[in-house]
Amino acid sequence: MHDHAGTHAEAGCHGHHGPEEALARAEAVCRARDLQFTRLRRDVLEVVASQARPLGAYDIAERLSGPGKRVAAVSVYRALDFLTENGLVHRIASRNAFVSCGHAHTDGAGLVFLICRNCGSIDETTSPEIEDQLGRTLAKAGFKPSSRILEVEGECGACLGKPVES
Ligand SMILES: [Zn+2]
Ligand SMILES: [Zn+2]
Repeated sequence: MHDHAGTHAEAGCHGHHGPEEALARAEAVCRARDLQFTRLRRDVLEVVASQARPLGAYDIAERLSGPGKRVAAVSVYRALDFLTENGLVHRIASRNAFVSCGHAHTDGAGLVFLICRNCGSIDETTSPEIEDQLGRTLAKAGFKPSSRILEVEGECGACLGKPVES
């Protein structure tokens, strides 16, 4: 499945898929759900999907702005809401930042994000075992989750394998 450990540092393989794939998926999702894939939504997704690390809304707004063109963070937030609701990007709560979805999975699936605090890379995985266990824990507590996203911070395989710089 996710066999990207140790390849984060190599150009071209960030353990995530490029913008073309993310955009194609977004178009398919919007068509299937009869939703508008506006220019801004598209631009925002393209920026997010082109980065292996999570981006904040202000970062995205800045990247979309240029001479004679200002994109407001509030518009970016609205586009991000749309993309998040439709499972095309995920919000990393601990960073207040966004990543594009690395692989297709069902809405509301339990997700585990492995966040490297050294290089900032993020790996997205699903774990049926954790999901089962979490589901039982939630049921026992009578708790209805609005999201089931787990974030684990640490060091990625690529960083662990690198010689320590001094
Ligand atoms: Zn995802
Ligand atoms: Zn790393």
